[in-house]
Amino acid sequence: MELRVLGCSGGEAEGSRLTGLLVDGVVAIDAGSLTQALSVREQVGIRQIFISHSHLDHICSLPFFTKNIFGHTDVPVQIRAQHETLDSVRRHLFNNEIWPDFSVIPNPDNPIVRFSEIRAGQTYEVEGLRITPIPVNHLVPCVGYLVEDDHSAFLFTSDTAETDEVYKVANKTRNLRLFITEASFPNEQAWLAKAAKHLTPEMLGRELKKLKSKVEVGIYHLTPADRPVMLPQIAALGDARIHLLAQDTLFNW
Ligand SMILES: [Zn+2]
Ligand SMILES: [Zn+2]
Repeated sequence: MELRVLGCSGGEAEGSRLTGLLVDGVVAIDAGSLTQALSVREQVGIRQIFISHSHLDHICSLPFFTKNIFGHTDVPVQIRAQHETLDSVRRHLFNNEIWPDFSVIPNPDNPIVRFSEIRAGQTYEVEGLRITPIPVNHLVPCVGYLVEDDHSAFLFTSDTAETDEVYKVANKTRNLRLFITEASFPNEQAWLAKAAKHLTPEMLGRELKKLKSKVEVGIYHLTPADRPVMLPQIAALGDARIHLLAQDTLFNW
């Protein structure tokens, strides 16, 4: 399996792209930076996009992506998400006001993208991968994803406050190579993390006690302006499994 980190920042700035992962060049997990990180040719290669939740930093490149691939793909790209997420994307983004509804363009029988609903706990077999959405604890309905092939697996929690299920799944997944989870705000802003259902480094430290294996942990979603304050707070956790996820990193397992 090849995992490419397109973006892993909790905010956008020069050198900091929003959330997006690309697996084997064909399956994207979240769409915060598809068009910023990938050439048009690479974008055309994407067949499936799994969305974790409706927040803008996880979906904002979808409109420009659909425009880029228009006329360059014969088969609709599947955009998969939970019912509530798809509903938000359709009503607020592809609503013919903010952006054309590319799920009926050029025609409803053979559109550019097809929205398809997924359910947490069910496993979807696509492009030689098994992808399982797992519910997490965020402001809006949100799922993390367990992504597996026959040799390896990684788990991406997406945005979440304190949560349990992803840890249960991680603890029973053989060949788990990477556990990606978040830290969004500095310890001093625990009130904000609680209100927005995110984690501070301190909260992250408590969460990671639930992870029983020595698997590598990649931290994502830091707020760019708070990085200087957060880095020592993350280091202070003293957990050797932790490193910061970096955009453009390529994992091959
Ligand atoms: Zn979010
Ligand atoms: Zn986010």
